[in-house]
Parts: sequence; C-alpha cells; structure tokens
Amino acid sequence: MASTRYDLTRDQLATVLDGEPRYRLDQLWEGMYTQLADPADITNLPKALRARLDDELPTALTSVTESVSDRGDTVKFLWELEGGSRVETVLMLYADRATVCVSSQAGCAMGCGFCATGQAGFTRHLTVGEIVEQVVRASQRAKHAERRVSNIVFMGMGEPMANLDPVWAATERFHGDIGLSARHITISTVGIIPGIRSLADRPLPVNLAVSLHAANDTLRNELVPINRRYPIADLMDACEDYLDSKHRRVSFEWAMIDGVNDREQDAKELAELCWKLKPSAHVNLIPLNPTPGYPTKGTALKKVYAFRDRLEELGANATVRRNRGTDIDAACGQLAAGQPVSLTPKPR
Ligand code: SAH
Ligand code: SF4
Repeated sequence: MASTRYDLTRDQLATVLDGEPRYRLDQLWEGMYTQLADPADITNLPKALRARLDDELPTALTSVTESVSDRGDTVKFLWELEGGSRVETVLMLYADRATVCVSSQAGCAMGCGFCATGQAGFTRHLTVGEIVEQVVRASQRAKHAERRVSNIVFMGMGEPMANLDPVWAATERFHGDIGLSARHITISTVGIIPGIRSLADRPLPVNLAVSLHAANDTLRNELVPINRRYPIADLMDACEDYLDSKHRRVSFEWAMIDGVNDREQDAKELAELCWKLKPSAHVNLIPLNPTPGYPTKGTALKKVYAFRDRLEELGANATVRRNRGTDIDAACGQLAAGQPVSLTPKPR
C-alpha cells in the first residue's frame, strides 16, 4: 500500500524535503500536526514547495458523504480508502468537549452478531496514516464550528487490539504531535487479552473500554463469540492488571438488549464483576441500536435508567449514554457498514 501523508514519520518527511533548508521540516510538521493544516495551506512554506508537497503527499481518505444530525452537533464522515473499502468517522460536539470516534479496521473479524461492522466481516487493517487522517479531517471540520477536538475514542469500525501497532502509532501521534492528553484517548476492545496486556506495557496511560455486554460466559459466548477464547474471569484479571499498571479507570460497555441482558440477574452478575475492580470500574449503558442482521430491540430508555439505578444500588457505578446520531446511523460504534447512507438526516 502506498504511504499517505500521515503515514510518514518525521524522518521520512525529512527525506521528502531533501534539498530544502532544515527548518522547513519543523514548519511542515508543525503545520500538519499543530495547526492541522493541509500542506497546501501551510502559509509559511513557499508556494512552489506547498504545491510539490500537496502532490507528493497524497491523502488516504476520499470523502464519499458527510451527514449531519443533532442540529449539527454530530457529523458522520464516510470515506473510501485505497482499494475501495469504506470506513466511517464520527465527530460529536458536546458543550464541554468535542470527541472523534475513529475506525481502526475496514470491517471486523470478531463476528459479534448485534454489530453492523461484525455482520459485514473483515476487509483489512487501517494504516497509521488512515487512522490519523480521520482525526485531522474531523478536527478541520470542528474548526468550522470554532471547536477544537479534545477526545478520541477508538469505537468506530474494527477491533483496535487486532491492529494494535498502527493504533498505537496513531495514539502516539495524537498525544505527542497533536497534543491531546492520554486521559482523553480511549481504546475500546471486545476483550482481546493479549492486546490489553500489550497496552499495559506501553507508556501512555490511555483509557481502556471493554465491551462486556454479558457478565456470564454462557450469554457472552453467544453475544461476543471471542469470549470462547478469552473468557470473563481471564478478562477481568487482565483489566485488573491494566488498572494496577496505569491507574486509569476501566469502563465496561453494555449495549442493552431487550429481554437478553437487562434482567435483574444481569445487574447482579455485572455488579459483582465491578466490585472486583472497585472503585475503578465504570459501566456505560447504551440501548442497542437494532441492525438488519440482529433486529432485536434495544431496551426501552425507562428500563435502561432503572437498570442503572439497580446497578448503583448494588454498589456499581453506571452512566446511561444516549445515542448520538442514530438518525444518520452514526451512533458511535454502531456504524452501519454497507448500508445506504443518506446525505440528509432521516426524519425521526
Ligand atoms: N471493536 C471494538 C470497538 C468498536 S465497537 C469493541 O467492540 O469494543 C464500539 C462499541 O459499540 C462496542 O462497545 C460495541 O459493542 C458497541 N456496539 C456495536 N454494535 C452495537 C449496536 N448495534 N448497538 C449498540 N452498541 C453497539
Ligand atoms: Fe468487531 Fe467491536 Fe463490532 Fe464486535 S462489536 S464485531 S469487536 S467492531
């Protein structure tokens, strides 16, 4: 695969600038990562050089559509990559932060039946440049609204732990070059234990989110097939070790599925798992977004809140996360792979 502009390291960019004064590299790097500008728009570079860079440093993402919802506060980008596969990125503007939800793979091999990406299967890993460019493009879009991206979540398409080296290289770029704090970067995993352990050995204390969805192996084997390889008890040990080494909160994602994982028994089992990691486990409850391959309804909102209250009573911390952008199929982590995408929001 050809290297695109954000795939190149500083040293590789220096080679592209061969023959130019040395300070041009600082100007280019600063322009690309601090100002988040396209090389053609880095005005302290001479015009001819800008044109050459624009030509020699191709972009990775071709925009297919951009859909807006929540009165402009949620923007979903659909991109085409080299080779033709498509991925999505979501920008969510909140009062106190702006979050970008990035994809780490085109498709996903983990086969969770309720997930649109899982239903589509795996196409390929994304490169560092393809991951970084999602954040740059979303940041440029945020700038139009006079906002600055403050948080990044790896909750788009794909399993980040199955593509950890590029995900990590992108994370270092977000932290060291774009200047985001590690505590504002979250890597979400379906529970790949070697990935969690490898993350614990890497220097930045990023947040870990684990997509749990079930608190006993029988149900979890069904909802999240990779649980057969990495069962809950081992997964909890890995989370505990992550906490010990990073002192970061671990969050459990729980997509609430009507009648499946929203019962009293589920609350009890989940609270028990949280006790083990206390006080550093936090449950995020999201009503399941039904998808064509898994049409079961999400739990009604009233019941979602009741489940949250029950968890709190049982001594676990939980928050209800309202879906963003469901009218444009953009709720973070529920990206509708392969479905038609409308440019205009569907009526609610
Ligand atoms: N592969 C990683 C990250 C991407 S998915 C993971 O699974 O953690 C991001 C989140 O969206 C996960 O918690 C995932 O379980 C959840 N998700 C997937 N499909 C969903 C759906 N239809 N409704 C609600 N949440 C969903
Ligand atoms: Fe892959 Fe995550 Fe979807 Fe499971 S929920 S299929 S791991 S993207």
